[in-house]
Amino acid sequence: NVGKSKAQVYEKGDKTNRITFKDVAGQAEAKQEVEEIVEFLKQPQKYTELGGKIPKGALLVGPPGTGKTLLAKAVAGEADVPFFSLSGSDFVEMFVGVGASRVRDLFRQAKEKAPCIIFIDEIDAVGRARGKNPSMGGNDERENTLNQLLTEMDGFGSNSGVIILAATNRVDILDKALLRAGRFDRQIHVDLPDLNERKEVFGVHLKPLKLDHSVDIDLLARQTPGFSGADIANVCNEAALIAARHGRPGKQDFLDAVDRIIGGLEKKTKIMTAAEKNTIALHEAGHATLSWFLEHANPLIKVTIVPRGRALGAAWYLPEERQITTKEQMLDEMCATLGGRAAEELFTGHISTGAMNDLERVTKQSYGMIAYAGMSDKLPNLCYYSNEEYSFSKPYSDRTAELIDEEVKRMINEQYDRAKAILSEHKDGHNKLARLLVEKEVIFAEDVERIFGKRPWTSRS
Ligand code: ADP
Ligand code: ZN
Repeated sequence: NVGKSKAQVYEKGDKTNRITFKDVAGQAEAKQEVEEIVEFLKQPQKYTELGGKIPKGALLVGPPGTGKTLLAKAVAGEADVPFFSLSGSDFVEMFVGVGASRVRDLFRQAKEKAPCIIFIDEIDAVGRARGKNPSMGGNDERENTLNQLLTEMDGFGSNSGVIILAATNRVDILDKALLRAGRFDRQIHVDLPDLNERKEVFGVHLKPLKLDHSVDIDLLARQTPGFSGADIANVCNEAALIAARHGRPGKQDFLDAVDRIIGGLEKKTKIMTAAEKNTIALHEAGHATLSWFLEHANPLIKVTIVPRGRALGAAWYLPEERQITTKEQMLDEMCATLGGRAAEELFTGHISTGAMNDLERVTKQSYGMIAYAGMSDKLPNLCYYSNEEYSFSKPYSDRTAELIDEEVKRMINEQYDRAKAILSEHKDGHNKLARLLVEKEVIFAEDVERIFGKRPWTSRS
């Protein structure tokens, strides 16, 4: 049976498990884009009589957990048609010919049930660009599978009633043949939710819960920047579990759940020496002080030295929800990120491994700014980005490579010096902040305001 498709099939008319657009929070644009597909699946004849031409396939592009699978199911649910679901990796097997035969089997089944939806999650597992680099030797089995998929897509007319939705986070690595007209020629972006959308996602997942009146959905949405829909679903689950011991979940259960999801379980009992605690407090207070005094740094929500997951301490900020970022904003963020190491050096006289993640971020960001965003004076308006999968040669000369390295070093040094200057200027406040952190382990924006006074910059919006 290895050659049989491993697709899960959801039949039409299954009312109890049926997912519709109202289960998908936010994603207004994506929903609007798939609306046409729903209309077509509902009444294919009417659609074709009017001369409408429907795409055979669309790519749902976005990070994990943003609801791509959910949206595809909702398309099938809205149209009340069968839904075939499988992952790209299900095709790929060690045995020669299995992948291709599974693709054939899948399309045969789907055509029998048309109109219907085929959903292929992680299409990149089969759809990576075919051997661009001859010396590495291709993955023949995967390529055969991909070729079969292309053949099947070309083999049925655009109005046969089978529509293929596929999900990926990496359009850039897909074989260009997949993206050609008549195949996956449409891309629908499914992004991480912004503040209002997070509120909507909470709305969906809080509905089945019996809540304590203290739960504040606005606060929860504000506390979860960067969370995906799946992360938010997890928070709701976790809060219900935490509350199970005492009754209905309330505000604190949700905040605890947010903390757990952010950084793994709180390990308050983990033994930390007094000296370590002090260093981490100085480090985190460094980030907090800088983000307070830098105009474009993200506004601070809370700072903690409680170890969680991989990161030692952590400062949570509200990222501004913005599409484009200016050089000034990026430099301020870089400066604030360097504030941890800078504070360690200034106030303990030592530097530690505690800043490793910060340094990694800063280095990557700086390379991006200089080599991709054309933001350095010595290499203005040049973008050396390349999306070739196997590019062994850099798209610039050795001399340029050296210049990029120099500019990165210069940029980071400048921001590091700036961080030290600001910290020296606000040394007393920074030290108060660090002592408060040692004492309370967690402090909030209000505490920082009590020490430094109102933030000189009001939050931009
Ligand atoms: P993806 O396919 O993008 O990785 P999924 O669709 O599998 O994400 O999402 C996983 C779960 O997260 C969903 O079943 C749902 O519970 C929740 N979820 C994700 N996005 C949303 C959303 N926009 N609205 C409501 N729930 C969501
Ligand atoms: Zn840090």
